[in-house]
Amino acid sequence: MKIHNPATGAVIADVATDGSAAVRAKYQRARAAQGAWAALPIKKRLATIAAFRDRLAAMHEALARTLTEEVGKPIRQARNELTGLAARLDFFLAESQRALRSETVLADVDNKLEERITHEPLGVVANISAWNYPYFVGSNVFVPALVAGNAVLYKPSEYATLTGLHIAQLLHESGVPEDVFVPVIGDGLAGAALLRQPVDGVFFTGSYETGRKIAASAGRRMIKVQLELGGKDPIYVCEDVDVKAAAAAIADGAFYNNGQSCCAVERIYVAAAIHDAFLDAFVDEVRAFRIGDPLDEATYIGPLTRRGQIAVLKRQVADARKLGGRVLTGGHAIDRRGNWFQPTVVADADHRMALMREESFGPVIGIQRVESDDEAVALMNDTPYGLTAGVYTRAEKRAKRILAEIRSGTVYWNCCDRVSPRLPWSGVGHSGIGLTLSTYGIQTFTRPKAWHLRSA
Ligand code: NAD
Repeated sequence: MKIHNPATGAVIADVATDGSAAVRAKYQRARAAQGAWAALPIKKRLATIAAFRDRLAAMHEALARTLTEEVGKPIRQARNELTGLAARLDFFLAESQRALRSETVLADVDNKLEERITHEPLGVVANISAWNYPYFVGSNVFVPALVAGNAVLYKPSEYATLTGLHIAQLLHESGVPEDVFVPVIGDGLAGAALLRQPVDGVFFTGSYETGRKIAASAGRRMIKVQLELGGKDPIYVCEDVDVKAAAAAIADGAFYNNGQSCCAVERIYVAAAIHDAFLDAFVDEVRAFRIGDPLDEATYIGPLTRRGQIAVLKRQVADARKLGGRVLTGGHAIDRRGNWFQPTVVADADHRMALMREESFGPVIGIQRVESDDEAVALMNDTPYGLTAGVYTRAEKRAKRILAEIRSGTVYWNCCDRVSPRLPWSGVGHSGIGLTLSTYGIQTFTRPKAWHLRSA
């Protein structure tokens, strides 16, 4: 499989992929190795993750560079991802023992009865991952899965293969046995081959379309399945905000990582009283973004990772124009080698437009005027997705009232495009099932086992 640099189109590596027989052999190795790994004291497994954290820190700059060359993420944002990863590892290192310890829920001395819960590893799990934040979305799964005693068959996205191989190498150097964390290399065919193995769970991050196939396959087999899928995340800007500050924060939420974040702001609703002022401030922010070579320190917008997304964005912009949308800036692909699209702002957007309904996953945003909180809430909920949603206002009660009515896994007040290791990360509707992060996201890689113990 050839790996392309999305900034130039140049081939930067050629890697061997796993066919069905290789995937089967990898599964068998993982199955054979899992029991001994689970039998280790948890402290030993945690020590490998602590060593992994140190190795990542030692390799920080080289890893950031590979990420930039492979997915086109601007170098400063690549470094941010690695720095954020260290904070997530710290969370798992601090919380896993407590989250996984067994618990006595009844100690009835008179009846000599004890009731206990233990957290058993699932066994061998498949971790099929996305390319947009390969360190984040991968580690949310494989770190707690390993700590809980599972063996992991890890399929990085075909667009983040070199990063996936780095992760495997660093984990192995850190003491995770090669048969306990096993990379499976290739595209969707390798992912499908992995799902034909009798794994005990599948943890998937990616698109709704692929997620449906994964869920169907897991459903037939009665195995645990978690799906972290796409979004169409809305922000509502109330009339009482500092317009310039809100515009700056929301523009960053929409365009960071070139809009290729699962929780990127994908649509904006603005109170009528400040609508025009907000548009002006927002467009000023977007026009000031530095577009260019992602290895350049000053670059904020790099190339799109996948070439095919240019056509999706062109279609959304053309459809919006046809239905009365006003393109205030951008609107076209950039004519240079690689996968480039101008940061684009469409005003007078509405829900007839694909731009306001379908995931863009690129540097294109629609803005719609609203007359009331009720109208904003109705529009925010008018989506099959439900990953994140946010409101900008000075009024705390109003914010909480609005956010309580929003159907999504995460809600934000005066912030956006934010993930915390301490909070569960989940979606409703087409955004997925299950969760990662928080202590729930540690326990999710286990099966709670119920013990009824009556002493003689
Ligand atoms: P994708 O669905 O194209 O691919 C995801 C993974 O699935 C890849 O590793 C791919 O090789 C594999 N795959 C493809 N077909 C398969 C099949 N039939 N069987 C098994 N595996 C298969 O998604 P992507 O382009 O890598 O990621 C972008 C999407 O991911 C966006 O929709 C984004 O919103 C979403 N995402 C969600 C979260 C979240 O936390 N909810 C995080 C990051 C990305």
